[in-house]
Amino acid sequence: MKKVSFNCTQCGKCCHALNIPLTTREAIDWLGRGGSVKILTEAIPWTDDTLLSDSLFTRKKAITFEAMSGSLAIRVAVTLVGHYSDACPNLDDNQNCSIYEQRPLTCRIYPFEINPQIQLNPINKLCPKDAWQTIPFPDRATRENSPTVYLIDEITRELITKLHETNSNEVLFKKALCTKLGIKSCSLSNNGYLFHLVEHEQLILALKATESGTKQHLIESEPSNDGWLIYSNNEQTLQDLKDVGAQSNLSFNLDTSNQEFIALI
Ligand code: SF4
Ligand code: SF4
Repeated sequence: MKKVSFNCTQCGKCCHALNIPLTTREAIDWLGRGGSVKILTEAIPWTDDTLLSDSLFTRKKAITFEAMSGSLAIRVAVTLVGHYSDACPNLDDNQNCSIYEQRPLTCRIYPFEINPQIQLNPINKLCPKDAWQTIPFPDRATRENSPTVYLIDEITRELITKLHETNSNEVLFKKALCTKLGIKSCSLSNNGYLFHLVEHEQLILALKATESGTKQHLIESEPSNDGWLIYSNNEQTLQDLKDVGAQSNLSFNLDTSNQEFIALI
């Protein structure tokens, strides 16, 4: 077995031109420092035919809420995303993180994967080669013919668990946030990204209002959650969605006055 350990070289590459998933509290703080946050909404069709492994089913269910698109049952995942096109606004002149002690969980976890279904692959990461060190064990011949195991330290493992727990605890807040902001459109998971841009102050107020609501209050005031519109750029996907009763539309028809835009993967 080939074992690889990771040591951050502090090259700062991961602090440039990225989208960072944030918890609600992190998003409020990020906006409070003048940063930008957009809202990503994705739909997973959720019928008896939904083919997911047991672990993926449990995980997806925990971080999404029930909704309807036309007559299709879906689950919606909402992610708050801190974004910047160049250097992160929290990088100081010496390329150090100026909010190091308060940096988001995602920054603390990188380059490790948050999603247990995704296997870590250094090729997909910004870290330089010398951040990855192969531990010479057991012998060269065995090592070269064996799968690679990336060693993850205990602190990072705990951070990933904490992020998963926070994400599932925040599902009702995210649902209430969408209701408050009138968001009822999304992309199809793995078919594109639909981001919603909300005016800075309005988003801070909406996040603070939903964050202060108790879980019980959010459950009791839960509105009906039908009428979600799924966008795609793919004609075949749109046809497939219509065939199963979903309410769907071509992304090119997005109403940008509603501050929605799609970025295709
Ligand atoms: S918050 Fe800090 S660690 Fe995270 S991307 Fe910005 S500068 Fe880097
Ligand atoms: S890109 Fe990787 S090695 Fe460079 S600062 Fe970020 S985590 Fe560390």
